[in-house]
Amino acid sequence: MQRAIRTPAGLAAAVGIALEDLPYSQIADQGFPLLVPHAFAARIERGNVADPLLRQILAAQDETLTVAGYSNDPLAETSLYAGTPGLLQKYHGRALLVVTGQCAINCRYCFRRDYPYSDNAQSSTERLATIDQLLDDSSIGEIILSGGDPLLLLDEQITAIAQRIARHERDITLRIHTRLPIVIPDRVTTALTRTLSQTGLRSVMVLHSNHPNEIDQATAKAIQSLRDAGVTMLNQSVLLAGVNDNPDVLAALSDRLFAAGVLPYYIHMLDKVAGSSHFEVCEDSARRIMGELSALRPGYLIPKLAVERPGAASKRQLEPIYPSV
Ligand SMILES: *Cc1c(COP(=O)(O)O)cnc(C)c1O
Ligand code: SF4
Repeated sequence: MQRAIRTPAGLAAAVGIALEDLPYSQIADQGFPLLVPHAFAARIERGNVADPLLRQILAAQDETLTVAGYSNDPLAETSLYAGTPGLLQKYHGRALLVVTGQCAINCRYCFRRDYPYSDNAQSSTERLATIDQLLDDSSIGEIILSGGDPLLLLDEQITAIAQRIARHERDITLRIHTRLPIVIPDRVTTALTRTLSQTGLRSVMVLHSNHPNEIDQATAKAIQSLRDAGVTMLNQSVLLAGVNDNPDVLAALSDRLFAAGVLPYYIHMLDKVAGSSHFEVCEDSARRIMGELSALRPGYLIPKLAVERPGAASKRQLEPIYPSV
């Protein structure tokens, strides 16, 4: 994290592109800082301004456009779902904890890029008290750690959370939503995998990757050690124009994930956060891409196309539009 790329010049050097050839914007960078770990930057094709990984992380001129329908809180998380700081309870049986505002990478399309993390911070003690309250509620069957990226907590903090959940009589699933095994595979330490295997909790990890080039050997090795610890491995993606809005790319992503022992779970429609309009894929195109993908791979390699609507009781699935026979 300390060595991560935080300047446009550092990024330009890492990807072998002259600074003046990058569509970089300082205004975009000031609003949401450029942040890329070297392990991720190394998978960007040198000299390729249109690289799908570069597009996900470059603070770009397009972000400064003001576009109708795009806002700072597209999912109404700070109004409709405000309550205990850091706790989001939208769906039956599941409670989501925003355990940190930090990420190892700043994805330009992030729907929480403007989330007021500092208003929602909890100390470790407060968080454990929140978990106790949740466990007293017999309707809760799953606790989800989110962020930010929950794997930016220290191993001791994650262990404390897992042990707190495990000591309850009830059968609870621990789910971790993280991009870290993708962007800094070294984060998957033995202390982490030991915690996940030793607490006896049923645990699920939902990775976030959008393009097959994000999964290299180091990532696959990190995933293998999580699997060895008994963690069920899933992946979610965001459907992004110029990154993965193509059935062949999504088929290749599913293949790469499956080879590493991960099943595709969701592919999300973009949440319309201000500054992300250049990533938009319209619903019709998205549904057609999924229809074409369905013809290329078995059902278990097809993620569900999901969209979030504030106030809805679940994420909604959009039906693929299949190629005509
Ligand atoms: C996405 C999300 C979940 C998990 O939904 P699943 O459909 O179970 O993956 C839970 N809580 C919140 C607040 C969410 O945004
Ligand atoms: S890793 Fe997730 S939370 Fe962090 S910036 Fe990317 S999309 Fe947002």
